[in-house]
Amino acid sequence: MMDRAKIRLFVNEALGQGQTIPLDPAQSHYLFGVMRTAVGDRVAVFNGHDGEWSAEIAEAGKKRGLLRCLGLSAPQLDPPDLWLLFAPIKKTRTDFIVEKATEMGVRRIVPVLTDFTNSERVRIDRLQAHAVEAAEQCGGTFVPNVAQPVKLAKLLDDLQDRRLMFCDEALVGTAPALSGERGAPWAILIGPEGGFSDPERARLGDLDGAHSVSLGPRILRADTAAVAALTLWQSTLGDWG
Ligand code: SAH
Repeated sequence: MMDRAKIRLFVNEALGQGQTIPLDPAQSHYLFGVMRTAVGDRVAVFNGHDGEWSAEIAEAGKKRGLLRCLGLSAPQLDPPDLWLLFAPIKKTRTDFIVEKATEMGVRRIVPVLTDFTNSERVRIDRLQAHAVEAAEQCGGTFVPNVAQPVKLAKLLDDLQDRRLMFCDEALVGTAPALSGERGAPWAILIGPEGGFSDPERARLGDLDGAHSVSLGPRILRADTAAVAALTLWQSTLGDWG
């Protein structure tokens, strides 16, 4: 394997020995305008499934450029089959949740509309761009998919055999405990600032495969709760151990 370059770029092209990658105007501006790289310099590229490759800048123009793959610099690392379901909150806090979930390692990020969700429209393209940026920065080779918002009831109907870690603020003060089989598909559910409604809590209580979990002795804001829940899951059932 080759040394890892400092600049990391997500690309949509297939990666492989000798493969060339055309750069779009935004990528060219970033590499040549902002980062001041030139022909012959090395960068790292990844596309979400072929690992990280060391690439050489073969052509550098104002609005276009070309990279050439030299060799694999890190193997593909996919996160466990974990989804993060969260009720969208204010824009910057929602951005934070997507960024942190990408760093912590999830397959899919799903904004869910609950009874007490009150947020502006969710911009999926913007959230997806945040996930790409977070993966570029944290050295990840996988970019989670940010799904279209879905109603909680519909989502629960469609979970199939995916286990649900239901972070229930009503359990505040009890001991956080999570157990289960490693390797099984899971989803973490975080509510909005207003918490869950009684009907939602009743539906979740009846759901096979739902595990109600406390996140400790204090009520956390939704963005903090997402990171805390991901930490608990990754350290108990995920790829930390
Ligand atoms: N307004 C609610 C709190 C909502 S906090 C209340 O005062 O009760 C937002 C979300 O974060 C919750 O729906 C839950 O999913 C999660 N959360 C925050 N603190 C938690 C805790 N101590 N235990 C479990 N989940 C928690």
